[in-house]
Amino acid sequence: MSAAAAVGFYQSIFGTKPEITVRAPGRINLIGEHTDYNLGFVLPAAIDKAIWMVMGRRNDNELHFHSIDLNDRYQNEVDNFRKSEKSWVNYLLGVISEAQRDGFNIGGVNVVFGGEIPLGAGLSSSAALESGMLAGLNELFCLGLSKLEIVKLAQRGENNFVGMNCGIMDMFASVMGQARQVLRLDCRSLDYEHFPFDTPEHSLVLCDSAVKHSLVDSEYNTRRRECEAGVQVFHKIMPEIASLRDVPLDFVLSEKKRLEDKVFRRCKFVVEEIMRVDVACKVLKINDFEAFGQLMYATHNGLQYEYEVTCAETDFLVEKTKQMPEVLGARQMGGGFGGCTLNLVKKEAVSEFVANMVAAYDANFGLKLACHVVSLEDGVEVKRY
Ligand code: ADP
Ligand code: MG
Repeated sequence: MSAAAAVGFYQSIFGTKPEITVRAPGRINLIGEHTDYNLGFVLPAAIDKAIWMVMGRRNDNELHFHSIDLNDRYQNEVDNFRKSEKSWVNYLLGVISEAQRDGFNIGGVNVVFGGEIPLGAGLSSSAALESGMLAGLNELFCLGLSKLEIVKLAQRGENNFVGMNCGIMDMFASVMGQARQVLRLDCRSLDYEHFPFDTPEHSLVLCDSAVKHSLVDSEYNTRRRECEAGVQVFHKIMPEIASLRDVPLDFVLSEKKRLEDKVFRRCKFVVEEIMRVDVACKVLKINDFEAFGQLMYATHNGLQYEYEVTCAETDFLVEKTKQMPEVLGARQMGGGFGGCTLNLVKKEAVSEFVANMVAAYDANFGLKLACHVVSLEDGVEVKRY
């Protein structure tokens, strides 16, 4: 799907020219897993895979949405809609609903969209949809929203209307991303800073395990509770501790005996992972990609043995790369129990890497491995005709 193709669809459906095209990218997270709800740091970036949304105002008060990829459409009145049975529609309605709740006046609008972000692979196609929709509405109806306001409204749409209790990182990356840079986001203050990830010699490759174990939701909640249990213990000793963000590693280690073994390992992982984000930024500043790759392996190791949110498939994919001299680092990305692994690979060896991984995955699991090379791109962009 390209912008031009989406514009073509718009014209053939509505018989008029659109007013704007929005490019809304997906995102990856380079390091900093399970640190967001512990109010630590994450290191995401917007990627070159995006959703293209072509939009134009209508003369009436109707909403007309058309999904090219799903070949599906939706129509309703802008002042009188409810949650739809079609899940894709709710990402668009959700941000309208939240904008209306803040008193913004949104009129009738046509939206035609399609994209190249693999759905449900952990690249946040949903955040792209929400951020892109809001950026488009902002332009068309002169809402005057800042980028940060778009990020926050997009998250509210997903939390309140779609009903997914997601964090803010995905929208943040999709909106604030910059080409050849990563973004260090402080999940407590929402302060952020860009760091260079600019290398002609390396590529980022996602290997999609195509597995999604049903454990994800229940184990996610369990991990949150385990982290909270750790915080409670630390808080009793040091009242200023309110989250794992506040806990120094020495303290976790010295208080080990007061913690249940599982809770100890969860806390150790999170505290070390928050520290790894900091180290990652330092090594990126000096273009030390070897060191960055080692941090990725360290993250996976922690996810596997301490946080225990990996699975046989992603462990295999990461382990396999350790015999490959062309790979600098690899780790499972996202909430856990499947999804994609993120690999830092020498550019000249990417095709060989992909071929080897596909063959190994097929031989071991009889599963087809989809691989995607991604580069780091600017966040949401609106183009007016
Ligand atoms: P992720 O955000 O990790 O990609 P989610 O389950 O949160 O996965 O969001 C995926 C959902 O977003 C899809 O099921 C669909 O409803 C919607 N969506 C994303 N991209 C598109 C698209 N190109 N066309 C239609 N719907 C899409
Ligand atoms: Mg999502």
